[in-house]
Amino acid sequence: MTQMMDYDVVIVGGGPGGLTAGLYTARANRKVVCLEKYLPGGQIAVTGDVEDYPGFERIQGADLAMKFADHAKSFGLEVRMEEVEEVYTDGDYRITRCASGNLYRGKAVIISTGGSPVLLSIPGEKEYTGKGVSYCAICDGAFFREKVIAVVGGGDAAVEEGTFLTKFASKVIIIHRRDQLRAQKIIQQRAFDNPKVEFIWDTVPESIEGDGTRVTHVMLKNVKTGEKSKLDVGAVFPYIGFRPNSGITREKLQTNEGGYIVTNDRMETSLAGIFACGDVRAQLVRQITNAVGDGTTAAVAAEKYIEALEDKHARRA
Ligand code: NAP
Repeated sequence: MTQMMDYDVVIVGGGPGGLTAGLYTARANRKVVCLEKYLPGGQIAVTGDVEDYPGFERIQGADLAMKFADHAKSFGLEVRMEEVEEVYTDGDYRITRCASGNLYRGKAVIISTGGSPVLLSIPGEKEYTGKGVSYCAICDGAFFREKVIAVVGGGDAAVEEGTFLTKFASKVIIIHRRDQLRAQKIIQQRAFDNPKVEFIWDTVPESIEGDGTRVTHVMLKNVKTGEKSKLDVGAVFPYIGFRPNSGITREKLQTNEGGYIVTNDRMETSLAGIFACGDVRAQLVRQITNAVGDGTTAAVAAEKYIEALEDKHARRA
């Protein structure tokens, strides 16, 4: 049976940004729910070691996610497993409709839905995710010390992250489907100048293979000649694009050319009463630390928005 439930604030997405927004909103004594499709934690719940969150020299992503969730829940955040399909405006209320049919009515909504890497969609990619296939060089690069690492793509992310991975790898091989990079020239030059970076041009990976526990090689195809080859590697980092999960509002929300939600410094979006934080938001850095900061700001700004709304209602009464 479907239900309509009332909250002050509805948070869509339970990653670090959403859970922090939940913590601050709950501490402001507001009735708040965080709706998450899978497990609380978002991308960090499926990340191995986290070594760049202050206060924890090294912690498993899943453990940090659990700490974020437990902390926020201890102050009254409700976390519910729901797949959100749509957020829309109904007068002074913001309605969140879920695949279950449940409706959550809030005075404000905070969107913290993050984003998803574009997948290669080739055999072995899913099977070896977490066993040599990774979409986060900062998170996982250190696990592949002195290994040959393949990076796929020719954009800013592939070339920049490929260069970063040379800190750990014996060699980084960037596999690109054309013979020219899309990445900015300065990023390209840094890679060309790095003796540990090599390129394989006009080539795409066709499968990622291994011994069942770890990646051992990729099978490649030259798109011009059709020639196939085998490349021995210890890890594969696909960087063929990242799509923000920003398309959940019924009314049009302002996004940038990459589809990221544009906010001001209060995390307000172009739609009144709808805030955004974390990876789904247009900004320079996509790390746990700044998602947490965004979540704090979004919660405080949402609280101020609700106070103004309540004042308006009180004056009308
Ligand atoms: P991107 O710019 O869209 O580049 C994706 C790359 O992957 C392209 O080189 C593309 O090849 C290749 N590709 C796409 N589909 C593929 C497939 N199925 N198989 C093989 N290769 C495929 O994505 P991004 O590098 O993730 O960057 C996303 C946005 O973030 C961009 O706006 C970028 O400027 C920005 N960004 C900026 C920085 C920075 O400024 N430091 C760092 C990271 C990201 P083609 O070139 O042939 O299309």
